[in-house]
Amino acid sequence: MVGDESSSTEYQRLSAQFEGAAAEDVVAWAVERFGRRLSLVCSFQNCVLIDLVTRVDPKVEVIFLDTGAHFPETMTYVERVETQYQLKLRVITPDADADAWPCGSERCCELRKTAPLERALEGQGAWMTGLKRADSEARAATPIVEWDDAKGLVKVNPIATWSHDDVSHYEADRKLPIHPLFRKGYLSIGCSPTTRPVSKLEDRRAGRWSGTDKTECGLHL
Ligand code: SF4
Repeated sequence: MVGDESSSTEYQRLSAQFEGAAAEDVVAWAVERFGRRLSLVCSFQNCVLIDLVTRVDPKVEVIFLDTGAHFPETMTYVERVETQYQLKLRVITPDADADAWPCGSERCCELRKTAPLERALEGQGAWMTGLKRADSEARAATPIVEWDDAKGLVKVNPIATWSHDDVSHYEADRKLPIHPLFRKGYLSIGCSPTTRPVSKLEDRRAGRWSGTDKTECGLHL
């Protein structure tokens, strides 16, 4: 399939077929369909998708966007997971022009996340993410497979239908390493200047860009 309106419809149909399918089956389809032209983009809040994907293909490329503003605990977690899974990890860093836009400023996410990711995905056929419908209202309609027009790639979200409990149960069953900040109330973890822990009464993503109108960094818009 190529990137036109008809292929977009085809992926909508495929996504509907995957409703109710096991996440492993979605991953297996993506690996079979795209081979080495598939990248998993991971924020390393947890390693559920890494565990799922590497069980199907241990050599899949994993991309981590190192914005330069992550918590030290996130960087330690990346190293731990990389070692545990012997990941084929590609760490992407921003260009020097990001220096003029400090954390939280207007172009910070663009220069530290969206633009570097677009460069990293050049030549690929698909990218895979850990987006879930349960994450937020803005993500409530996340398809399992879609044509990502902005990037000119297929986007695969194998755990789109999972609840937060599904994630916790999978982590417990598979004895996965947990991000050290998760138990301290950081239920959604991004860059340190724009992330705070949340109370039990708050939405999980309430601690991201708290006090501003922003709810997404732009990677998934
Ligand atoms: S999440 Fe915050 S600190 Fe990170 S790149 Fe975006 S604005 Fe900058």
